[in-house]
Amino acid sequence: LFLSLEGLDGAGKSTHLAWLTQWLDSHQINPLITREPGGTPLGERLREILLHEPMHADTEALLMFAARREHLAAVIEPALAAGRWVVSDRFTDASYAYQCGGRGLSFERLQQLENWVQGRADGLLQPHLTLLFDVTPEVSQARLAGAREPDRFERERADFFVKVRAAYHARAKADPERIKIIDSTRSFEAIQQELERVMQDALRR
Ligand code: C5P
Repeated sequence: LFLSLEGLDGAGKSTHLAWLTQWLDSHQINPLITREPGGTPLGERLREILLHEPMHADTEALLMFAARREHLAAVIEPALAAGRWVVSDRFTDASYAYQCGGRGLSFERLQQLENWVQGRADGLLQPHLTLLFDVTPEVSQARLAGAREPDRFERERADFFVKVRAAYHARAKADPERIKIIDSTRSFEAIQQELERVMQDALRR
C-alpha cells in the first residue's frame, strides 16, 4: 500500500509520521519511509536547491517532478513491486497545492507533468491513501514561528498558504475516497484516535 502525508508546513506531519510508524510496527508492518522532494541521493540534492535557490515557478515544478521521477524509479516502484508498504512525506498532491495553488502554475500543465511521470499502462500511479493534515494558515504560521530557519516556502506570506490550503481542499473534494482530511488543530489524542480508525480501514482493504 502506498500512503502519502500532506499538509501545510507546521501541520504536524513529522509527529504524526512518527506515531504512524509505531502503529504500523505494532501491526508487523515495516514500511519504507521516504519524503518529497527527496527520497534519493539526487532527489535530496534537488531538495536543497528547491528549498533555497530562487527560481521561476515552472523551473520549480519541473525540478519537483524530476525528483519525483527518480524517486518512483529508484525507490517507490521497486518497494511496491516487492509488496512493501511505502509511506511518503508529501507526493503529487503537494505539487497541486504549492506549485498550482501557491505559485499559480496551470492545472493543465501540472496534469501533463503528472501523466508523464506517473502514467502507467494501467493508469496513474498514485497513493492508495493520503492523509491531509489540515490546519489554518494562522496555525501553520504560528507553529513555524521561532522554529528552525525557514526555507524558501516557509518565508512566503499568509496569502500564499491560504491558496495552498484551498488547493489541497479542492484535491480532497475531487477524490474523497483517497484523500482523508484530518483536522489537525485538535489535540494529538483526538488526531491519533482518528488516525487509528483510518488506518484500521486501510488494513481491511
Ligand atoms: O514537508 P517539508 O517541510 O519537508 O517540505 C519541504 C518544503 O517544500 C515545504 O516548505 C513545502 O512547502 C515545499 N514543497 C513544495 N512543493 C512540493 C513539495 C514540497 O512547495 N511539491
